[in-house]
Amino acid sequence: MNDILAGFKRVELCHQPTALEQMPRLTKLLGGPRLWIKRDDCTGLATGGNKTRKLEFLMADALDAGADMVVTQGAVQSNHVRQTAAAACKLGLDCYALLERRVPDKNEAYEQTGNVLFDHMFNTQIEFRPPGLDMNAEALAVTENLRASGRAPYFIPGGGSNPIGALGYVGAAQELLGQCRALGLAPKLVVLSTGSAGTHAGMVAGFHALGCDIPIMGISVRQPEHIQIENVYNLAVNTAAQLTDAPLSRDRVMVDDGYVGKGYGIPTKQMVAATKMLAQNEGILLDPVYSGKGMAGLIGQIESGQITDEGDVIFLHTGGAVSLFAYEDQFLSAHVAE
Ligand SMILES: *Cc1c(COP(=O)(O)O)cnc(C)c1O
Repeated sequence: MNDILAGFKRVELCHQPTALEQMPRLTKLLGGPRLWIKRDDCTGLATGGNKTRKLEFLMADALDAGADMVVTQGAVQSNHVRQTAAAACKLGLDCYALLERRVPDKNEAYEQTGNVLFDHMFNTQIEFRPPGLDMNAEALAVTENLRASGRAPYFIPGGGSNPIGALGYVGAAQELLGQCRALGLAPKLVVLSTGSAGTHAGMVAGFHALGCDIPIMGISVRQPEHIQIENVYNLAVNTAAQLTDAPLSRDRVMVDDGYVGKGYGIPTKQMVAATKMLAQNEGILLDPVYSGKGMAGLIGQIESGQITDEGDVIFLHTGGAVSLFAYEDQFLSAHVAE
């Protein structure tokens, strides 16, 4: 198969291909379709995760632009900021990050442990922001101030989700199809958690450009279904436009917002149950904000019969287990916020 990304600038940051593994014990426990997991939690950079694939393209663009630093933003426990900061260190750039206090009712430790500890390890310059601001606009304003002061900053949007970053998941789509072909596997569905939309959009654009019609179900971790579909579709169209002239149909983007709970980063019973189930049956660590809710969605859809019993289903594990340390109370006690 030709590499559809051959013409794009890229720096190597990622251990790839990531493994595609079976989950036999979880499959048996749920009694549904045969379950597989694509281990993008193991991309290798600073404990790994999905942002590393995007950063291969974003950082190449930053270097090409002559940047001496990158500026980005995320929630306090952002996995994206942690991976961006690590990539910056690896490439000899500085990293400036704005962290939004997006999740309510968190204690002091929340701003020091998990991803934040690692941000400090990578010497990230951090500024906190109150919730509810347009964080990309905030980060762009900081970028322009830095430029005015003589630096050469490169702006990376939240989650690395733009048509350049999403190319990382076009690459993942291509890699996954190659693995399926080698195994003689014809999955009926891919399930992933969807937030800033770059992962979902890149996968949709990649399958589209490769002529693959396997459906992709995004479990929303923040936005209502109609907004998330709009966000993913727009980014998928702009990503695919770099690869093919074929029009992308909106019905390729599927989102289930039934597992968000009270909001972004706020634990749910299903997330805690799913995270414990994966740990205790497969020895795999999910995270409370993204992959735990994504897995809750996969389990919920199997239990409700929305995903039928036959065939093979692949869960894309996007990483994030570092933030478990910021949610210790959820896993050490019986108390769980609804
Ligand atoms: C960012 C992130 C996601 C969501 O990916 P998007 O491209 O932002 O939609 C999922 N899982 C983890 C662990 C993440 O850090």
